[in-house]
Amino acid sequence: MKRLINTVKDHSGFFIADEEEIRAGKASDVYFSRSMKGLSHDQEVVAEITSSNEEEWITFSGLKEVLSLLSPRNLTISAIEEGEIIGTRDSAGIPVPFITIEGKYSEIGEMETAILGLICQSSGISTASSRVYIASYPYPFYSFGIRRMHPAISPMIDRAAYIGGAYGVSGILGAERISMEPIGTMPHSMALIMGEEEAWKYIAHNFPKGKRTILIDTFSDEKESALRAARMFPDIDYIRLDTPRSRRGNFPNIVREIRWELDLRGFKSIKIMVSGGLDYDSVAKLREAGAESFGVGTYISSAKSIDFSMDIVSINGNAITKKGKYSGKKDVFRCSNCKKLKVIPSSSRIGKCQCGGILEILNRTVYEGGKQVKNYESDRDIRMRVTKKLNSILSKSSTESR
Ligand SMILES: [Zn+2]
Repeated sequence: MKRLINTVKDHSGFFIADEEEIRAGKASDVYFSRSMKGLSHDQEVVAEITSSNEEEWITFSGLKEVLSLLSPRNLTISAIEEGEIIGTRDSAGIPVPFITIEGKYSEIGEMETAILGLICQSSGISTASSRVYIASYPYPFYSFGIRRMHPAISPMIDRAAYIGGAYGVSGILGAERISMEPIGTMPHSMALIMGEEEAWKYIAHNFPKGKRTILIDTFSDEKESALRAARMFPDIDYIRLDTPRSRRGNFPNIVREIRWELDLRGFKSIKIMVSGGLDYDSVAKLREAGAESFGVGTYISSAKSIDFSMDIVSINGNAITKKGKYSGKKDVFRCSNCKKLKVIPSSSRIGKCQCGGILEILNRTVYEGGKQVKNYESDRDIRMRVTKKLNSILSKSSTESR
């Protein structure tokens, strides 16, 4: 036992891989580098990334980091763009190739673990964020969940949440990386240390209009505190409820009751913000009850990863893959008219959709000869495309339910 302890390298810092270690393939599963050693010839391969996720759609993200990871390797990469809201199979059930990488196997194989990790987690977070966008619409929601995950990845979490539709993020570094101001209200600790009403006063007098949110549930009943705060600071923008689960009972009904009492007493301009363990369903219910702003944590930051996997689909120009997968290099198209997806072999001629609509290509070449083909879109532009698509999903579902 003593000998074993002595052989463990002392590690007093954080348990994270730095960029250099990730780029060197050290954050990869060992079997890739083992298989590399056993290969006598390096082969030209086409590797394709598909997903077994069965949701109706996902919000794809994480590509920017993949391109950074693989740079300056000599590869050709085509991909679906970040922020695409898309099913994982086409209308005929063929898996959509999200990323296609062509090059020597020695340049690709040992990076598989890291490539997948970058898109699986980011896309899971973006997808959860897009779902909350739909539940909270037309009201804003914010990513408040970095405290549930390792701090080293907080910028990735906040970026993915923002791309997926979040109106802002609470993380200082996350906000900095997406060129935004971080969003925050007041912590319970401020009410505990300063006294509740002193803390309210500080927020009311020092925060800019539109951003004055006071937390009203530190000590007393929510309704009593809400009315007391409203009387003291009638110009406040939001009152925030972060009621603990143990005291919650029916949270939407608490919000309903407070909205009623505030309206009755002429405080219609004071909005209600809610936070604390919210998910898609609770956000939708609280919105119906009268909440007009949402802080969402774990549901977004710790969202289930989207299962992507990477497979060789061609070696030296010959279509080959493992069972359960579809061989050969492919392209993915979407009909401009009926919006159906169509995956076809890259060697095939592109016809029209059965409905007569034009087929538009979704996977474009994004990286060639060691560098990106064009400058990357800003995160703000990616989010704008996402919310435009989510708005069209929302208008489609409201037309259907009429
Ligand atoms: Zn069509």
